[in-house]
Amino acid sequence: MSAYRNQYIDINKWTRPGIKNNGVKKLVVHYTANPGAPAANHYRYFGQTLPAQNRNLSEKKQTFASAHIFVDRTEAICIIPLNEVAYHANDVQQIVNGQPYRGVAALKPNANFLSVGVELCIEKNGTFHPDTIARAEQVCAELCKMYKLDPTNDIVRHYDITHKICPAPWVTNSKGFADFKTRVEKRMDGVVVTAPVSNPDVTHTDTGRFIKNTVVSSDGLVLRTQRSASSSMVLNLPNGTVVKYQLGSTVNGWGYVEYTNSKGQTFHGYVNVSYIKSDNELKSGGKKKATSSKPKSTQKSKFSLPAGTFKVTSPLTRGEAVKRIQTALAALHYYPDKSAKNFGIDGAYGAKTANAVKRFQSMYGLTADGIYGPKTKAKIEALLK
Ligand SMILES: [Zn+2]
Repeated sequence: MSAYRNQYIDINKWTRPGIKNNGVKKLVVHYTANPGAPAANHYRYFGQTLPAQNRNLSEKKQTFASAHIFVDRTEAICIIPLNEVAYHANDVQQIVNGQPYRGVAALKPNANFLSVGVELCIEKNGTFHPDTIARAEQVCAELCKMYKLDPTNDIVRHYDITHKICPAPWVTNSKGFADFKTRVEKRMDGVVVTAPVSNPDVTHTDTGRFIKNTVVSSDGLVLRTQRSASSSMVLNLPNGTVVKYQLGSTVNGWGYVEYTNSKGQTFHGYVNVSYIKSDNELKSGGKKKATSSKPKSTQKSKFSLPAGTFKVTSPLTRGEAVKRIQTALAALHYYPDKSAKNFGIDGAYGAKTANAVKRFQSMYGLTADGIYGPKTKAKIEALLK
């Protein structure tokens, strides 16, 4: 039985051009960067939402993107036939000597013609669920057999080709990716290694208020899945990183924190609280006083979303409330206009903002009408919490 099922999207120029590829030399692993959105949502997004949106945009503002297979906790869906091109790995992330960075020579000049793209969905906290990882192992083992590929050399990250931070969990933790490939290889021999070694999935049941804007005061402080230096690493927090600390969560010197990166992805885990500065509420484990590092302006006010309903009106609805909606959407990668100044965050609820809302709604299973209301507000808030 196959580890994935085929459910192809219709041919269209933006996501499934219908062009035959030149064979499959590598598998390229990605993450979806849409916290909490399962595979089926991506089928809908690339099959319907994105093409529909592109139709209304000028050529240069259109988005060309897709991948072959999307994997989540419960299923894997192949949305583009494996002998066709998907737009997943040929973006320009870094220019070296005037040329787009192409770290995988075998995939030059255009990785999309020589590879299959496998996307792993992420959990609400930005990590891969162990079941998602296990299913991705099955998918990759099956594809490696099909195309006579060697997991160690022939499974690569999007990062390896263009330096895009993708899949983020395995760019911050390269060992997690190496271990993944090892397990794929074992699966090809029929050996299933359960309990993946790198499966940062924090379970935390404490409740309590977060202190905002606590600052990391040590280089490379490690965010971990448990209150122990031997537990899995979620990611590295550089000196000066702003995190939120949960009051009362410190036990044996380990406290629970929340970290949101510049892309709006949120991670949770435990840190040694000796290395985070804060006010006196952190005394239990702290030893240093805050000095030079200044917390950034608070995230909370930036993302406090307006109540009520917002939609395209004539004349357009404008103001601070609209700006807050746009800013929150942008933090989740749903930009009003990615190529415009300030990502099109202009305080006016026009067609582009409605489109961003629509894309967001589609990805998260809401009625995709482009109208911001209580349900959309609640979903955005849940993701940015
Ligand atoms: Zn990618």
